[in-house]
Amino acid sequence: MAVRLKLGDYQTVQDDPLGRGYIGCFPRMTESEAWQAGRGVWRMRTDKASRQRFAVIVGAGVVLAVGEITNLTVHGDRVALDGEVLTKGHPVRDAYLGRPDPADTNSHNPVAYCDLPEEQQFLLRPCGCGCGESGDRDFKPGHEIRAINDRIRAHFDGSALKFVQWVDAVLESSAAAGGKDTV
Ligand SMILES: [Zn+2]
Repeated sequence: MAVRLKLGDYQTVQDDPLGRGYIGCFPRMTESEAWQAGRGVWRMRTDKASRQRFAVIVGAGVVLAVGEITNLTVHGDRVALDGEVLTKGHPVRDAYLGRPDPADTNSHNPVAYCDLPEEQQFLLRPCGCGCGESGDRDFKPGHEIRAINDRIRAHFDGSALKFVQWVDAVLESSAAAGGKDTV
């Protein structure tokens, strides 16, 4: 899921926790202006917000910017997102920029959550070695070796040669049985 943040009308602000002079949207806003106006400060649940990787900033019914969230900061009862505006060529940005609000709901809450199919490839998932860490790849760097070595230790007496011979034998018997090579 991604978080959708809907900008209100342009207004100047004083004592803004993010040091801004205005919030809200105005015509021909640039993507970075929209991100600065939209990244805070919102009443939102930090546990839910912290699980999102992308934020879609909407104003006047269309997507004005898409940002990647790197951190949250809490300002009293409000929350702001830290992050970077996605640039041209990023599939999540290119699919939504200038398009209608992807979280078009009847709710007036400016904060909403929506599924974006394009974000799936970037979402954090548990490392395949079982270490409990997560990342946007199958394994944290170097952990694929750890996962393989764990299996060699547990099932092949610590012998990489036995493991390789076993893989070859399995593939050979599967080919002999007319099975499809899945590698
Ligand atoms: Zn791992």
